[in-house]
Amino acid sequence: MLRSFIPTAPDSHFPIQNLPYGAYQTEYGDIHLCSAIGDFVIDLFVLDEEGLFDGPLLKDQFVFQDSSLNYFLSLGQAAWTEARETLQALLHKDNPRLRDDDLLHSRVFKGREEVEMVLPCDIGDYTDFYSSEQHARNVGSMFRDPENALMPNWKYLPVGYHGRSSSIVLSGTELHRPKGQILPDNSESPVFKASERIDFELEMGFITGTGNKLGERIPVNEAESHIFGLALLNDWSARDIQKWEYKPLGPFLAKNWATSISPWIVTLDALKPFRVEAPEQSPAPLEYLAQTNPTTFDIQLEVYLKTSKMNEPERICTTNYRHLYWTIAQQLAHHTVNGCNMRPGDLCGSGTISGNEKGTFGSLLELAWNGTDPIRLHSGESRSFLEDGDELILTGSAQGDGYRIGFGEVKGKILPAIS
Ligand code: MN
Repeated sequence: MLRSFIPTAPDSHFPIQNLPYGAYQTEYGDIHLCSAIGDFVIDLFVLDEEGLFDGPLLKDQFVFQDSSLNYFLSLGQAAWTEARETLQALLHKDNPRLRDDDLLHSRVFKGREEVEMVLPCDIGDYTDFYSSEQHARNVGSMFRDPENALMPNWKYLPVGYHGRSSSIVLSGTELHRPKGQILPDNSESPVFKASERIDFELEMGFITGTGNKLGERIPVNEAESHIFGLALLNDWSARDIQKWEYKPLGPFLAKNWATSISPWIVTLDALKPFRVEAPEQSPAPLEYLAQTNPTTFDIQLEVYLKTSKMNEPERICTTNYRHLYWTIAQQLAHHTVNGCNMRPGDLCGSGTISGNEKGTFGSLLELAWNGTDPIRLHSGESRSFLEDGDELILTGSAQGDGYRIGFGEVKGKILPAIS
């Protein structure tokens, strides 16, 4: 097994097999791109400045001297693989170049807990899909009809909506409860007030690498080579605002007040050992969505809630990314089939990831079944939706043989509405 001179515990999210991408603020206030290993971030700016990315595609490209990943993302799969291989070689336990150079070592490795992470790329556009069958069935049962829970289009196309990138925030950002139009029960006209039904959505998002030109499309069997990696995503949702506003054009202000993402993008290269067959699709997808070998990833996901009365967060959901019905390749092929152009650094959310039983549902709406069955917490409290002071933490990892590829976490706290 590949090992680094930087020690990592077997349950660390960041062994040498992972090497995700992020960005942090240096002590001088600059933004440097970075990776992670064990308890450290790896300053990629410093490694690049030293000329250590010396492979054929990245030599003299200065890609890691930018303050965002976008240019690197535009270079494509071969450049991403070259960067990964260069980093793995530099970090290898038998390579003295970085290991034995004390000065360089101290410039490159910074304590992961001590640095402030920032968004690693300029996210130009954000789209959110709705690709978990169980989630779509649950919501359809609650809001429409359990007999016809799925809309007729659902098994023919990956349903999605355009979100808003300006309000994508990094893990740790605290958010004020939004206000909006809400229709009270048994009323025909809405009132303006603070949402009383703040929810989370457990999702993962993919970041696009190379895009496509306007008018062209990305074929489904080539789509994965346009995808750089995955991050954890919480699509915060105000269910009472959503319920009143969503017909006929879909989510708007219920969703665009905030979307939180984890600071690390885990590459598809790192996730390769965790490929699993995607769920069987019936009816067969139309030809432009028919993947030759549809695969997805075995990533265990968890949600924790910490109310202001708790000392430790309590787990309220465990599920797995592999439950998603539509694959990322199908999502991207569908997104571009009309000639819509994707650009490097675009973000596509998976949709809420729910398994097929109660403890595996990826939102409070489902866990507490629209407020009819509140979840009971060890603190003696119960929850149907999030209260002020509640902190929510999403985490996930893929378990290898003796190592773990982790995504870190995405957390966020709900503050009272601004009066
Ligand atoms: Mn969503």
